[in-house]
Amino acid sequence: QVRVRFPPSPTGNLHVGNVRSALFNWVFARHYGGTFVLRIEDTDAGRNLAESYSGLTDALTWLGLTWDEGPQVGGPYGPYIQTERGEIYADVIVKLLAAGFAYRCFCTREELEAREAARPKGAPSGYDRHCRELTADQVAAFEAEDRSYVIRMRVPDAPITFHDLVRGEITFEPVHVPDYVLVRGTGEPLYTLVNPVDDALMEITHVLRGEDLLPSTPRQIVLYQALAQIGVGSGRVPTFGHLPTVLGSGNRRLSKRDKGSGLKEYREQGYLPEALLNYLALLGWAIADDRDVFTIEEMVSVFDILRVNANPARFDAKKCEAINAAHIRRLSTEQLTEQLLPFLQGAGLVADPPTPKQWDRLVGATPLIQERMTTLSEGVELIRFLFTPNAEIVIDESVALPATAGAVLDAAASALRTVKPFDHESIEAALRTALIDGLGLKPRLAFGPVRVAVTGKKISPPLFESLELLGRKSSLARIEAARA
Ligand code: GLU
Repeated sequence: QVRVRFPPSPTGNLHVGNVRSALFNWVFARHYGGTFVLRIEDTDAGRNLAESYSGLTDALTWLGLTWDEGPQVGGPYGPYIQTERGEIYADVIVKLLAAGFAYRCFCTREELEAREAARPKGAPSGYDRHCRELTADQVAAFEAEDRSYVIRMRVPDAPITFHDLVRGEITFEPVHVPDYVLVRGTGEPLYTLVNPVDDALMEITHVLRGEDLLPSTPRQIVLYQALAQIGVGSGRVPTFGHLPTVLGSGNRRLSKRDKGSGLKEYREQGYLPEALLNYLALLGWAIADDRDVFTIEEMVSVFDILRVNANPARFDAKKCEAINAAHIRRLSTEQLTEQLLPFLQGAGLVADPPTPKQWDRLVGATPLIQERMTTLSEGVELIRFLFTPNAEIVIDESVALPATAGAVLDAAASALRTVKPFDHESIEAALRTALIDGLGLKPRLAFGPVRVAVTGKKISPPLFESLELLGRKSSLARIEAARA
C-alpha cells in the first residue's frame, strides 16, 4: 500500500518547485491507488502564519491535488500539523536519548566557532563530536553551570548507501554526515527530527522530493534506522526519489526571488490549474517524445517514477504559457465562458451576477477569443471594450491613425447607420463596399481606424463580430467620438 506525503512549510506563496513535488507525489499515489498525505511543517515557529497555512490548502484545492489525510480531512495518523505534535516529538527524543542514538551537546556557539577556526586544513568539517562521550561528571558540571544544550544525532561511522528511484545508487561517506542537531537549545524540535519521525509514524512508503533535499537524506536514513530500533513507526526506511532541480534564470536553481516562481501569480494571471500541472509535469517527466499537452488523468494512468529524468530541468515561462493556451483551446465554449466570468468581475467590468446583456456579450465574445489568448487575464484585455461604457473608451496613445482615418470613419459611420440586419455578415459586406470599393483603400487602412475607434486598440477580436456584439448604437457612438 503506497503512502506518500507532501509536507510544505507554510509560506504565503507556494513555490512552483514545491507544486511540482506535490504533483508527482499525488500522481504516484493515484497511479497505485495509494494515499496522499498533506502535512504542515510549521515547527519553525518564526515562519508559522495561520493564514499562510490556509493559503496552502486553498492552493492545493485550486490545483485539484486533493489529499486523503491531512488538515481539514483528518485521518488515522493525525494531527497533521506539526505544531500540534509537540508531545509526540518530546516522547521520541526521550527514547532516542535513552537508547544512545542521540546525545546532549553543551558546546556554546563561541566554543564551536573557536574550534572550527582552529581546525587543521583538510580535516572534516562539521561538528567535531566533542560531546559524544561525556562522562557523568562532565555532564553534571555543565548542568551545575546551567548551560543549555542541543540534542544531536549520533551518526554511525559507516558509509550510507541507498537506492534512489530517480538517481540510482547513492553513497554518502561518513565525513559528509556529521552529528547533526535534532533539538535546539530552546527545546524546539527541528526539521531534521520531525520530518523523519512523522514519515515513520505516518507509515510513509515513498519520499519523492526535490534534489535540493538530497544532502539531508543520509541523515534521515540514520534516524529512520534508529526509530525502527526503538519501535517508533513502521520500522522501515521509505524509498526515496529525488526529482530534478528546476533551473531559473542563469544556471541557478529557480528561487523565490525569480519572477514566475510563485503559484499565486499564475492563478492571478489566469492559468488553468490543469495547464499549470501539465507544464510542471514536464519538469522531469514526459508522456511521449512528440507530445507536450495532456491531462492529469492521462499522467496518472501511465506515470512511472523510474522514468523521471535526473537531469536539471529549466523553467521555461514561454512554454508554460503555450501549454496554458493549448488547454484554454481544449475547453468547451461554455467552460471558457465560466472561467472568464470571475476575471471580468475581478476587473470590475461585469456585475456579480452579470446582467443579461453582459452575459450575452460574454457568451458571444468567448468563441472570438478562444484561439487568441494565452491566459484568462489576457482574454479579459481582448474583450474589455465590450464591457466598457462608450464614454470611457480611450484610444491608446501609441496608436497613430493614418491620414485617411477621418474619411474612413465618416464612411464607416454612414454604412453602419443603415446596414440591416446588424450582423457580422451584413456589416462586413457594407464596410467592404463603403471603404474598400468606395474609398479604394487596402483592408488594413480601411478597417484599422474602425477597430481603433470602437476598441481603443490596434489588436482586437475579429472586427465585424465585435461590431455585431457591441450593437449599432454603441458602434456609432464610438466612431463619432473618435472622429470628433
Ligand atoms: N518541509 C520541507 C520543505 O518544504 C519538506 C521537505 C521534504 O519533502 O522532506 O522543504
